[in-house]
Parts: sequence; structure tokens; C-alpha cells
Amino acid sequence: MSSSRLLVPGARVGLTTTIPVEVVLAAGLIPVDLNNLFIASPEALAMVSRAEAAGFPRTLCAWIKGIYAALQDHPEIGAVIAACQGDCSNTQALGEILESQGREVIHFKFPYPREREPLAREIAALMARLGVTPEAVARVRERLAPLRRQLRRLDRLTWETGQVSGQENFLWLIESSDFASDLDAYEPRLTAFLKEAQARPGANGRVRLGFAGIPPIFTDLWDYLEDLNAAVVFHEFPRQFSMPYESPDLVDQYLRYTYPYDIQGRLADLKEAVATRRLDGLVHYTQSFCFRQMFDQILRDHLNVPILTIEGDRPTKLDSRSRMRLEAFTDVLRP
Ligand code: SF4
Repeated sequence: MSSSRLLVPGARVGLTTTIPVEVVLAAGLIPVDLNNLFIASPEALAMVSRAEAAGFPRTLCAWIKGIYAALQDHPEIGAVIAACQGDCSNTQALGEILESQGREVIHFKFPYPREREPLAREIAALMARLGVTPEAVARVRERLAPLRRQLRRLDRLTWETGQVSGQENFLWLIESSDFASDLDAYEPRLTAFLKEAQARPGANGRVRLGFAGIPPIFTDLWDYLEDLNAAVVFHEFPRQFSMPYESPDLVDQYLRYTYPYDIQGRLADLKEAVATRRLDGLVHYTQSFCFRQMFDQILRDHLNVPILTIEGDRPTKLDSRSRMRLEAFTDVLRP
């Protein structure tokens, strides 16, 4: 068992991004994806301002400020697992700030370059820190396997038949990083949703878009794209968070997860999506002040599909320039 009083079964543990959640669940802890906690709040915009009032710079990614503010609102989350490698250096600095404020911070490093042995060591260290055995983690992984297959089914119903809308796809996949902090409720909810979605008529024939990059921070993006009669049939990172591949073991599962590693893994995934999902165009969403913006040129150089890059800063509605650019992009792609 873990020696920390904050890591007792039933305690809520914050996650700064998707990490091996199976270990957290095996320890009897409740994972809380802090990004989801931030963006699902009706106060999300005000939370960014609050973090700035507390001293965070204007020229810093809003997700970091949102996570910080979400934690101030949730003192019951005493411990945070921060990906201090494989996410970004902002997360590393945030972890240090949280530690200085008395929170327990567990650092998790995705290896760079992507290699099996260091990742296996890192997962083993997390198990030791949370006081769980490999057998207990394997049991959780087995428990999650049918659920993860349902998520793959949901994703297929988005791009194959159009029975699941782009927004529904986004929300279900993004929630899969922590199963909405309630695995026992998430699973039957997902089963019921799939049953209902499978009974819907198909909805194909619209402009088929994919989204690459960080989850968009805009609040009305999918409604606007619906108005433009465009279907979003691929969300790169939310799909990655759902662990979309069958893998022989936990280490392999998190090695195939493309988000924390180099761009080559992402490119292979994106190329496959462009071909399999018959994308008419790809929207590269970039977050203001995020280092991942730099990958834009690589995507343009290596992907054989029209690409539109849009940038978001705070959790607000789409600005008029982005709306116009999305409209022009979908008009050009319309057959
Ligand atoms: S959006 Fe970019 S800068 Fe912000 S937390 Fe994520 S990786 Fe870091």
C-alpha cells in the first residue's frame, strides 16, 4: 500500500494528461482529468482570468491556467499525477508550483525517444508509488478491455455510418481519459448510448473533416460545423486518449499512444486516418503559446490532404476570423 495519506482508496487524484490510468484505478483511487474539470466548468473563461490574477502570465497556454484554477476550486484533490515529460515543460513548472502549495505531486515521464524499457520502468515506479501489484493492474486492464472496445465501436459509428455526431465522438473520447471519474457509471452510460446510436439512420454525404492536435478550446465549434453541413469524423488526440489499439500488455498500450512521443508516430496515425476515414480535409487546431504549433509545417509537408490551421486561446466562442476561414475551407472541399 502507498504510505501517503492522500493516496488512500477512494481519494481523488488529479491527472494533467492521459497517463496509465489502469494503475490509478488498481489503487482504488478516483482519477480526475484536470483538463476536463476545467473545460466542463461553466466558469472556464473566468478561471483563466483568475489564474492570471494569481500571477500566471498572459502569454501562457490557457489549459495550464485552467488546470491551476480548477485545483484551487477542488481542495479535496490532494494529489496530482503530472506528466513532467511527454506533455510540456509548462506541466513541469505547474507541478512545482502545486508542490510549493502543499499538494502531493507524482511525476510521470513518458520516455523520449519512445522506448519500451524506460516506459516499463516508469510504469513500475508509478505502481510502487501507488502501492499496487502488476496483477492488480492487469485485472483492471482486463476489466477495461470491453469498454475500450465499445469506444472503438463508437468511433467507427462516427466515420463509417455517421450515426454518432462529431461532437458526441469528441465528448465520449475525451472523457475516456478518466471515465468521467466514475467508471461504474460511465460504462452503462456508454452501452446505452451505443444502443441508441446504432438505431439511428446513417448520416453520410457531408464534407468529412478530421481534427489534428490539442483538443480545441472553442465552445461552439461543433455546432458551427454542423451549420456548415460538415461532419467531424476524426479527433486525433481524443481518440488517442481512448487507447484505440488492441495491445498485448500495458506497456505496449502506452507505447502505441502517440500523444507524448515524437511526431513520426503522430504522422503515421494521421496518414492512416486520412486514408481510412476518407477525409476531405484536416483542421490543425493549435493552442496559443503551445510548442506544438511548431509541428504545423511538418503536417503540411507530410500529409496529402488539404489542411486548415486555426488557433484558439481561451474557452470562448469561435472568433469571426476562424468562422470565416472554416466556412471558406468547407466550401472549397464540398463536392
Ligand atoms: S496545450 Fe500545449 S502548452 Fe498547453 S498544456 Fe498542452 S502541451 Fe502544454
